[in-house]
Amino acid sequence: MESIKGRFAPSPTGRMHLGNAFCALLAWLSARSQGGSLLLRMEDLDPQRSRESYARLLMEDLRWLGLDWDEGAGVSGEQEELYWQSRRKEEYEKALAMLKQQELLYPCFCTRAELHAAEAPHASDGQVIYSGRCRGLTPQERQAKEKHRRPAIRIAVPEEVISFTDGCRGVYAENLARDCGDFILRRSDGVFAYQLAVTWDDGVMGVSQVVRGSDLLSSTPRQIWLQRLWGFPQPQYYHVPLLLAPDGRRLSKRDGDLDLGALRSRIGPEELIGKLAFWAGILPKEEAVAPRELTSLFGWEKVRKQDILLDGSMLDF
Ligand SMILES: [Zn+2]
Repeated sequence: MESIKGRFAPSPTGRMHLGNAFCALLAWLSARSQGGSLLLRMEDLDPQRSRESYARLLMEDLRWLGLDWDEGAGVSGEQEELYWQSRRKEEYEKALAMLKQQELLYPCFCTRAELHAAEAPHASDGQVIYSGRCRGLTPQERQAKEKHRRPAIRIAVPEEVISFTDGCRGVYAENLARDCGDFILRRSDGVFAYQLAVTWDDGVMGVSQVVRGSDLLSSTPRQIWLQRLWGFPQPQYYHVPLLLAPDGRRLSKRDGDLDLGALRSRIGPEELIGKLAFWAGILPKEEAVAPRELTSLFGWEKVRKQDILLDGSMLDF
């Protein structure tokens, strides 16, 4: 049997928060409990939002938690830059060229206002389902528009249902054309889209297990379809519950009091791991524990399926 390769793939756009730590613990446990390895890839494609200083803090926070990794950012010597998406643009050009050869790409000149016109339908993740209005432009029309606006690159999706079994959430299916629509692979500012970079990287890096927040569940059919076009095997997916703030919002980098910078001054790593493992359903009661002590207790059947609302008492530490 081939060994499992899991991954951490954070965006260094702020300090790691409690929800990121929760997801990282489950990714680590899932791989390590099966004798697998992990890699760390920095998803720092967006130059406006990513900072190398945040990336360094992310690595330090993972180490503080006791969550180690075997290859990637911070450990792979001269190879290290292969694991920073901002340094992989040539790779993504290649990925895009393969799809261009299959005649699936077209330029889209729509402005944000045009995309968000009142009648535009929305997918389950709140994204606009693209109407396909630039798909049928003639070469002359494209040329004329290019004088005024640099286009985004979209991929034309088929009327096809992509279905997969998520290890945490069960069967999930989407009709690409109806539920998602033609999606962007490169933005008009030249930045490669998340869907392209994450799918290509998981494929070429041999990732066989993807553990991430359930907010990304609806991205997965698109990614599976891209994998098939590029000829990559399909990893096993586990979309884990989100941690919700007491008012029901999902935790974000704006919740500064729940980021690792603040938490590390109030609580030790094993206490924090114990809380996360208890919330996840892995520990029957809250107690301080190191991640490696949890590997024999871990099983996906124990992990909660629903998002976890953090009430005030849970955050009283
Ligand atoms: Zn368009």
